[in-house]
Amino acid sequence: MEPESITNTALVNFYPVTTEIFFGLLALFLLFVFSSLISGAEVSFLSLSPSERSMVNSSKKKSHQLIRNLLAAPDKLLTTFFIVNTFSWVTIIILATYIFSSLVVFSNLTVANLIIQILIISGFILLFVEILPRMAANNMRVKMATFMARPVYFLSILFYPLSYFLVHVTSNHRNTSQGSNLSIDEISQALELTTSEENMEDNGILEGIVKFGSTNVYQIMTPRIDVVAINIETPAEKIIEIINHSGYSRIPVYAETFDKVEGILYIKDLLPFINNIESLEWQSLLRQPYYIPENKKIDDLLKEFQKNKVHMAIVVDEYGGTSGIVTLEDILEEIVGDISDEFDDDEDAFFTKINEFTYIFDGKTQLNDFYRVCNLDDHLFDEIKGEADSLAGLLLEIKSNFPKLNEKISFENIDFFIEALDKRRIKKIKVVFNNV
Ligand code: ATP
Repeated sequence: MEPESITNTALVNFYPVTTEIFFGLLALFLLFVFSSLISGAEVSFLSLSPSERSMVNSSKKKSHQLIRNLLAAPDKLLTTFFIVNTFSWVTIIILATYIFSSLVVFSNLTVANLIIQILIISGFILLFVEILPRMAANNMRVKMATFMARPVYFLSILFYPLSYFLVHVTSNHRNTSQGSNLSIDEISQALELTTSEENMEDNGILEGIVKFGSTNVYQIMTPRIDVVAINIETPAEKIIEIINHSGYSRIPVYAETFDKVEGILYIKDLLPFINNIESLEWQSLLRQPYYIPENKKIDDLLKEFQKNKVHMAIVVDEYGGTSGIVTLEDILEEIVGDISDEFDDDEDAFFTKINEFTYIFDGKTQLNDFYRVCNLDDHLFDEIKGEADSLAGLLLEIKSNFPKLNEKISFENIDFFIEALDKRRIKKIKVVFNNV
């Protein structure tokens, strides 16, 4: 028989709390406490920092050993949390609905009844089971994980058959799924979408790694026109002057022209002879040059550098002429961005940022670096750049003849102004981004 309502208005009827409902409310309260502890445990287990993990790993406490064991099988642990959460949520919802409709009834307004129940129950679950416990647990991860280690361990054993089944079903599905064939472009786009102010640096490094395998040496080398090299007939006193002036640790040495590189002079090989340099046959100190083609991929070159213990390679074109040089630092910069060593000063920077929309670049700036600095799509100039790999080369391709000083060359929303040039080279370019 239905209990009689204690109030009876046109809209809403309230019923008294019976013994059955009282125990239902008690069970509901306990379920809320249990669920919020499980949510807190989930956060604390899964967001332990590396230092907290190593503290737990080196501890002899029983609860820390249990945390270690649980974290050793993350798939199983996640599935246990998933199962327990699902069970407790479903039980909470059914029980709360039953209690609610036994206490309050909106006279025959079934839809209103339903909407109010959904709002109240979901609000309670979100606040007390999800948001508050997770926030609290995040502020005391180790304490919470230690406190919950035994209950979670017990639950992981209790639900072992079910979690074992779920882990295996999903891992089989993952192994057979075709979805993992992501292209480099897709991964780059995903990284761009997830870039925020705080993780810009990390994403820059990840993007560098993603593009690493598709970048070739020609895109990152120092072109021959900028290489400091020495003619093999240069007298010893003179080479000291050149070395001092350049500041580089390795200098290519050529016979007649730079197309015939005879070896690399390592400055450290000269040091033992520094006091009697005039009488030194410095050519005897040359090390074998390491030649590579322009289209070699830089990930392969990095492996070769490691295997052969060299730091510099001479880049040769298809006719055997020298195109430039590439060093270990050039390769690493593709991942971590600009590396300044002790002797680099800011004047060596290849660009100056005037404001958010305006930059001044060296003409020799590689397009790769230009994209990176200005945060541009790597394929922006693909259709017009032809063989060009530097900014100056790009402008020559767009213009098709040699530009004049202060001339403006536009492409889409970018204006390039020739700021400095000599007879053969565009030296400085002002880049202005419009309507960004
Ligand atoms: P180290 O840091 O080992 O002393 P380094 O400072 O002389 O060497 P790297 O750090 O290998 O040179 O390279 C720094 C940049 O200088 C790279 O872009 C590289 O291409 C360029 N570079 C190195 N040697 C020369 C050189 N002889 N002429 C022109 N550019 C060079």
